[in-house]
Amino acid sequence: MFTGCETVPITGRSQLLIISNAELSAVAAGEFSKMNKVSNDPRIEQIRRVGLNILTVARRDDAHGVLPPANKWEFAIIDDKSPNAFAMPGGKIGFNVGMFPYAATDDDIAVILGHEVAHVLSRHSSERVSQVLLVQLGAVAVDHATKNQSARTRQAWLTGFGLGAQFGMLLPFSRSHESEADHLGLIFMARAGYNPEAAPLFWRRFSNASSTKPPEFFSTHPADETRIRQLQAWMSEAKAQANSLSKP
Ligand SMILES: [Zn+2]
Repeated sequence: MFTGCETVPITGRSQLLIISNAELSAVAAGEFSKMNKVSNDPRIEQIRRVGLNILTVARRDDAHGVLPPANKWEFAIIDDKSPNAFAMPGGKIGFNVGMFPYAATDDDIAVILGHEVAHVLSRHSSERVSQVLLVQLGAVAVDHATKNQSARTRQAWLTGFGLGAQFGMLLPFSRSHESEADHLGLIFMARAGYNPEAAPLFWRRFSNASSTKPPEFFSTHPADETRIRQLQAWMSEAKAQANSLSKP
């Protein structure tokens, strides 16, 4: 079992990680391979292009070597009408068909992928999977959780990744994880040349549209006034980073 106290890039928050990135990546690869992917949707090129631009600039803060090299990342459009998108440890990015009505432009997609890549870079899944496994299975079982294929274990992993609707179990990311992913994601999208002003606009639009029947992404990423206020507060920092990169 991997145990360590580490710090999150940029924000410097301390975190306790008891599941290694390698273990997470192995489970994520298995789950990703089972998903229904659309094989002939040309929008995959847009997702890949924006995703790789975000990854290129995020790598500068990858002190722990969490992000795989660019050519190892897999991108897929998932054949699912619910609005959802995710990035998983080990380099898997999925974008549901149902997300495009909410996020069609490069800037919008950069908001979502910047945020999701920031979750991966900050190793939030490790913290979440650890927490869910400990609650559900107990400390002794965590050690064997990567080999255990039971539905209960699988539910714990998927919930940790921010997925898990198929088990009817959606755990919101904690306020601190969401703030970190918003903060880093805003910086990444600005560095990559996208307009960070799209971020608060996306969250407000998504929040309004999903207020009656919250979709999976909204259940795991609750958008409230605090999120939008914080994004506005980080805007000048994000723009300053973009400007400093564009100068020779
Ligand atoms: Zn999030």
